[in-house]
Amino acid sequence: MECKICETKVATILGKPRINKSFPRIKENNYTIVRCKKCSFYYINPVIDLTQDEWVELYKDDYFENANITDWQIRLHQSEVISRIKLIKSYSTLNIDNFLDMGCGEGFVLKEALENGFKPYGLDIADNLDESLDNVKINFFNGNLFEANYPNDYFSAIYIDSVLEHVGQPMLVLKEFYRILKPNGLVFMIVPNKDCLVNDMKKILYTLLFNKSKYGRIKPFVPPYHINGFNNTSLKNAIQLSGFTVVELTQFGGNYTFWKARRKFSKSYFIELLLYLIGLISIPLNKQIQLQTIFKKL
Ligand SMILES: [Zn+2]
Repeated sequence: MECKICETKVATILGKPRINKSFPRIKENNYTIVRCKKCSFYYINPVIDLTQDEWVELYKDDYFENANITDWQIRLHQSEVISRIKLIKSYSTLNIDNFLDMGCGEGFVLKEALENGFKPYGLDIADNLDESLDNVKINFFNGNLFEANYPNDYFSAIYIDSVLEHVGQPMLVLKEFYRILKPNGLVFMIVPNKDCLVNDMKKILYTLLFNKSKYGRIKPFVPPYHINGFNNTSLKNAIQLSGFTVVELTQFGGNYTFWKARRKFSKSYFIELLLYLIGLISIPLNKQIQLQTIFKKL
């Protein structure tokens, strides 16, 4: 085994991943979840050898059904995006021009970037762009980052939210960002925090209440299909090893009020209330749900 971030070969074995029942072939490879002893990156050993078609099959099955997005979450996300674009602008020392959203989904971030004077570029392996978006103003590429093959020194800002934990080669993505970003350009990135206290507690609660089988910290074969697990240390390491300078590394999500999205007085409503308290405790402990970072190509 070899860490995909720092290439260290020593790692702690944490356990077996849960396996998607509709996909028995996965078991053949006897995957384990491990944590790098040097940079504390969580990864799967051996490297997952699924074909692109097999991944598509996994995502198609239940990824979006499980998403179950409520109006409350949509409003929360929109207000977060508005403040993130403002934050990127406040740190930028370049002219406001080409802006890439990798994994742009329906395109809400691009719309907000456009309204803030950026020239938006969207990239996604699936085309879910909202029809209300003006296709002339959004430069959309349907495919992966490497296929897009953007020119050198092209973007003044890159936005990537909840993508890096899904990709096979995270370091290659970061190095490609370095190539296509202008000097002094910024990357704004969010990944889930694998040292998240709420998730640890959730796992214990669900095991006790619903007798779900145990699983490690990343979930390669059950939604949300995270194959890379970052914490403060490994994320910082990955950013620096790909040539960037960290401008800001913060956490958020500890005070999320997920119970508001549940049916009042249902079982999951009370679980979320309890997890809300755990979330508040996670703030001073630096074990919140999400890691947010801005880094710069000097
Ligand atoms: Zn490592």
